[in-house]
Amino acid sequence: MPIQTDAVIVGAGPCGLFQVFELGLLGLRAHVVDALDQPGGQCTELYPDKPIYDIPALPVVSAQELIDRLMQQIKPFEPDFHLGQTVTSMERQDNGRFVVSTSAGTVFDAGAVIIAAGLGAFEPRRLRVAGVEAWEGRSIHYALRDPEVLGGKDVIILGGGDSALDWVNEIHARVNSLALVHRRPDYRAAPASVAKMKELTAAGKLRELHGMVTALLEEDGRFRGLKVKAADGAEESLMADQVYVFYGLSPNLGPIADWGLKLDKKQIPVDTEKFQTSEPGIYAVGDINTYPGKKKLILSGFHEAALAAFAVQQYLHPEKKVFLQYTTTSPIMHKRLGVDQPE
Ligand code: FAD
Repeated sequence: MPIQTDAVIVGAGPCGLFQVFELGLLGLRAHVVDALDQPGGQCTELYPDKPIYDIPALPVVSAQELIDRLMQQIKPFEPDFHLGQTVTSMERQDNGRFVVSTSAGTVFDAGAVIIAAGLGAFEPRRLRVAGVEAWEGRSIHYALRDPEVLGGKDVIILGGGDSALDWVNEIHARVNSLALVHRRPDYRAAPASVAKMKELTAAGKLRELHGMVTALLEEDGRFRGLKVKAADGAEESLMADQVYVFYGLSPNLGPIADWGLKLDKKQIPVDTEKFQTSEPGIYAVGDINTYPGKKKLILSGFHEAALAAFAVQQYLHPEKKVFLQYTTTSPIMHKRLGVDQPE
């Protein structure tokens, strides 16, 4: 059965999260979908520890703290998060509602859709060698969820960032053999993780190689490992049962391009009254939208989310007059926020 909801928000970046708040104030329920395993969009994925200085009333806040605060702010509205899944399709029904489906098979029957998809869905950067598709999901993976499955296996990890080194440091004791391949001797991971990895190398528990993967090794229809070429041109065959690729994430507009919306250079044109797309009932806020004067800033997305919420309310309940109420004084908003009413 599809999940019934007032609105589906595509994207759990800062603007998608604030959209939950603005809809909630108006008494509208939202489900939020994100391709990533955690909310926060670019803030969490690209620069969690960097300070942001242009959020009103917060002279300085780290990107992750901003997301943590937004999550706290939207708590009263109990949004449902559907993480680790991409919204793949969106179809208008005769009754004006939308059937929205995700890569994990979740289906929504939504009154309205708000696209807060930023630069697109974050997806893992793939290993680019001939024939890789045939082994993806079987011997070549882009995420490691259950290290238990690696007991006694020969494993190669590719990459030089935090994910690659965290997993090297975590799984070395349970595997039969472990190799780390990174294209150069400098690592982007936290210095403490690099130091721990170097100890494993020194103790002979890890093979550390610097070079590029040039080919897959296969024998009698079985995956056997990777061929790696070092900077000096020397090639080496590394045997493995399983390969984990941690080359980071890159945004991909992906399915959004197929939803029949008017697009302008990978962005969605909207009006500045409702932030509605070319399709009534589908709105776009944050970095994904475009209009004259658009600035890709978090505070712009917050403003857009507020106006889009009013427009969604009007789309869903055209018969209702919506009055502007202040959170300071509105008893109904206090009730929705779950705060004590002032005397
Ligand atoms: P995003 O944060 O991009 O989030 C979009 C989310 O949607 C992603 O998590 C993505 O996985 C998801 N998604 C997309 N498509 C789908 C789909 N089909 N299905 C499921 N999920 C999907 N801005 C400022 O205002 N001040 C600053 O100081 C500042 N500093 C910055 C520093 C850096 C290094 C960077 C990279 C950006 C900075 N920005 C700053 C910009 C700011 O981060 C963006 O404006 C903001 O993140 C946009 O928020 P968003 O919610 O629109 O999109």
